[in-house]
Amino acid sequence: MANNFARMLSSKRNVRILSLIGAGSLTAGFLLNRERVTAGAQSRRVYPASAEYPDLRKHNNCMASHLTPAIYAKLVDKTTPNGYSLDQAIQTGVDNPGHPFIKTVGMVAGDEESYEVFADLLDPVIKERHNGYDPQIMTHPTDLDSSKLTSGNFDERYVLSSRVRTGRSIRGLSLPPACTRAERREVERVVVDALAGLKGDLAGTYYSLTHMTDQEQQQLIDDHFLFDKPVSPLLTCSGMARDWPDARGIWHNNTKTFLIWINEEDHTRVISMEKGGNMKRVFDRFCTGLKEVERLIQEKGWEFMWNERLGYILTCPSNLGTGLRAGVHVNLPKLSKDPRFAKILDNLRLQKRGTGGVDTAAVGSTFDISNLDRLGQSEVQLVQTVVDGVNYLIDCEKKLEKGQDIKIPPPFKK
Ligand code: ADP
Ligand code: MG
Repeated sequence: MANNFARMLSSKRNVRILSLIGAGSLTAGFLLNRERVTAGAQSRRVYPASAEYPDLRKHNNCMASHLTPAIYAKLVDKTTPNGYSLDQAIQTGVDNPGHPFIKTVGMVAGDEESYEVFADLLDPVIKERHNGYDPQIMTHPTDLDSSKLTSGNFDERYVLSSRVRTGRSIRGLSLPPACTRAERREVERVVVDALAGLKGDLAGTYYSLTHMTDQEQQQLIDDHFLFDKPVSPLLTCSGMARDWPDARGIWHNNTKTFLIWINEEDHTRVISMEKGGNMKRVFDRFCTGLKEVERLIQEKGWEFMWNERLGYILTCPSNLGTGLRAGVHVNLPKLSKDPRFAKILDNLRLQKRGTGGVDTAAVGSTFDISNLDRLGQSEVQLVQTVVDGVNYLIDCEKKLEKGQDIKIPPPFKK
């Protein structure tokens, strides 16, 4: 019942109707009007905000860079309609001062409304993380027309595998840091139910983690198909690993080229991947599959969290907008040892990770290279950035092989 209630209040259509007839103004206002939102419910606190302020002196994450005692005092007593608080949102960044490989965001959302209620902190965090994107004045474009992508075939002497992923959240249900067990199971039910409608090359099966043997699970992880066990402190400190493995699982088509993770960091992660360098084909499948998943979810009466300022709403602010990470596993023995490598990646707006996922170091000279940005540019633009950037890296590698000089490209212009 609670889910149906939340769903009724949160669907776009009903919010509009409720506001038109002047009913349900509290919830409708929460979704439509930022002024109303900031008047969120009060939580009980005994000590003054200054006494509760976290010690961030040794921290290096975006949250720590932007939280001030004044912002903390303003937001600490506010909660979202689901009861999610600022202290819950920043806990992961308080407990994890920094990440060895990338500057992390340091906070998460517990629900769609977190982005409104805690906007005083989240907006500057988003601006820093997304290369100056200002959610107050900018709008986010979506473009899933993969036919616009050019030169999406990489030299397979260097590129071992290609992958595009995004996340999608089901409107009306709390996000993984805050959801109840029942809500999490509802996400699983809704999504698996919808995915049963996928046909042809996309048709597949759901594998629940609770029904899998440890061996089967490890094999999927080793083959890069499945998320890691919840060992990352970024995950555990934000509350996303609660009740593991309840209601977690992976859906995939028969060839394991289209996969959907359920209830890891996001309600869903939608992934298209394959061995080799055909990013064009991977992106084609990603766009077709994702549009079909959305259609099936809507057919069941649900919809994805989305608004025009932030695009698709996901748990981590770093994934707002497209939620898209397009990447390759690429072998760059010479370039990766060159002192200019980091600057070249930076100027091309690319990020490097280890090939075992975000928490792993690189093995040898093979890296996961992907787009750094997610918000303010469309899916097509971001995949094109990766295609052009990775081709540039391969070009550098070839030049270094021949003993020729390489250049740091000028900083990428949006
Ligand atoms: P995500 O951003 O999708 O959560 P992670 O860094 O957490 O990515 O990695 C998740 C899994 O996806 C890991 O097993 C990783 O090896 C795999 N992976 C990521 N990119 C690629 C790629 N281009 N080719 C093959 N596997 C990949
Ligand atoms: Mg991950």
